Amino acid sequence: MPEPHWKVEVLLAGSWRGATSVLLSNGRSHAVVDTGLPHEAHQLVSALGARGLRPEDVKILINTHFHVDHVLNNWLFPSAQIYAPKESYDWCRSLYDDLLDQHDWARLVLKYYPETFEYVKAKENLEKMRNFVLRWWDVKRLGAPTQFKWLENENLPEDIEVVRTSGHVPGHVSLIIRNSNGTTVIAGDVVLSREHEERVLTMIPFNRKQFQADRARLLSIHGRMIPGHDREFVVLPGITAL
Ligand SMILES: [Zn+2]
Repeated sequence: MPEPHWKVEVLLAGSWRGATSVLLSNGRSHAVVDTGLPHEAHQLVSALGARGLRPEDVKILINTHFHVDHVLNNWLFPSAQIYAPKESYDWCRSLYDDLLDQHDWARLVLKYYPETFEYVKAKENLEKMRNFVLRWWDVKRLGAPTQFKWLENENLPEDIEVVRTSGHVPGHVSLIIRNSNGTTVIAGDVVLSREHEERVLTMIPFNRKQFQADRARLLSIHGRMIPGHDREFVVLPGITAL
């Protein structure tokens, strides 16, 4: 018997200051994509509860990348295997270690964001990100190390397609779900929002050229688009990508 289709629902709606969290359910399994910031924990659990689910019912967790606004409620899901890109895990952990360096952080961070000086607001954003990290970062919030399965060598169920979209941070992944109702793209931070991406409180791209190419590639897919920091929208044939 074929596997039932994944139904895709938004648990936490993305905004300029909060990341999107998504539920995939096929009747038998439940998967959550990205988990938000600590102050959103209650909202996330309530959104599951409204669908008759407890965090323990979620056996698959997927992280698009390890920016703090996407991963800090992972620990709420102790029964889940966490599928995530190791490259982004290593890169972000190293970035946070360097951001916590009191004296030298502004210089150290250029290793990660070599294009910083090409952006007017980059310095301001870096300071905001550092404050986020100082306030929220705690590796225990990512879940237990034994829960992780790295997407570089582990496969998700075959009807969840993983696309590497590294322009935002190295190793970043987006997901594509295709079923008889059409196609849904869970973009992560490759498509931050439908428009006005500059308003989103996140970091500049690691690589702007790659980021723009990743974004255009995802926006060329017709169907539901779930951005990392905005409400979902539909990409229709014949409409040029924004
Ligand atoms: Zn991000």
